[in-house]
Amino acid sequence: MTPAQALQQAAAAGVARLDAQLLLLHALGRPATDRAWLVAHDDEAIAADAAQAFQGFLVRRAAGEPLAYLVGYKEFFGLDLQVDARVLVPRPDTETLVEWALEVLTGRAAPRVVDLGTGSGAIALAIACRRRDAEVEAVDASAGALAVATQNARRLDLPVHFVQARWLAQARGPYDLVVSNPPYVAAGDEHLQALRHEPREALVAGADGLDDVREIVHQAPAVLASGGWLLLEHGWDQAAAVRGLLQAAGFADVGSRRDLAGIERCTGGRRLEQG
Ligand code: GLN
Repeated sequence: MTPAQALQQAAAAGVARLDAQLLLLHALGRPATDRAWLVAHDDEAIAADAAQAFQGFLVRRAAGEPLAYLVGYKEFFGLDLQVDARVLVPRPDTETLVEWALEVLTGRAAPRVVDLGTGSGAIALAIACRRRDAEVEAVDASAGALAVATQNARRLDLPVHFVQARWLAQARGPYDLVVSNPPYVAAGDEHLQALRHEPREALVAGADGLDDVREIVHQAPAVLASGGWLLLEHGWDQAAAVRGLLQAAGFADVGSRRDLAGIERCTGGRRLEQG
């Protein structure tokens, strides 16, 4: 089998060309940056074991497994993160949340930050990488997720402190920032079918998808420093509801931010000292 034939086979299986190229490079033990190499060696036979590995990946990709699980990594905010089925695949839309987080931390020296439901560690590690003076904690209820995140932190040599807990149950504030991409998909959402390979506990949050957001909004004021921010990612149609929850909990400067598709994807507010 040659690369040209491998890519034809992928097209016939309904696998996107870019995905197929990345899977083939992975099967060949070559970096993702070697797509030009593939093109240049279009007609050269691939070793039998690599061809066999590629075919295995193709079947799994065609069955809907995320590319990131098959190649074992996902780029997020310039960081190369290792991922597997124990964690949600980091989404580019979540970079909106990281950018907002970095903005609210601007001008605060040695800020204390906690990332809730860290999964692969994406948000916590991106913040720790950009703000070397920050004290970053990352919480997850899943031991499997924490194992993935801890390894990412070690490999990237970023100082994040990991805690196994449910949301803020073990938090020791005051924090300048509480940030989270919690589960926010409604239990009956048909979109879940497409996400079936990812951990359900990282995706689903009750009948309206807001159970975990409500819990975090309820717990956050007690651990936020005065002037500290709570920033949350949420579903495409939940921005108004999340703003309402934050306002009802007494947050100030409540607003939302749009993701790459122009959808209001994150909502946040600040805790201001009463009186
Ligand atoms: N963004 C994911 C999706 O709907 C959901 C992530 C989440 O629930 N935090 O594809």
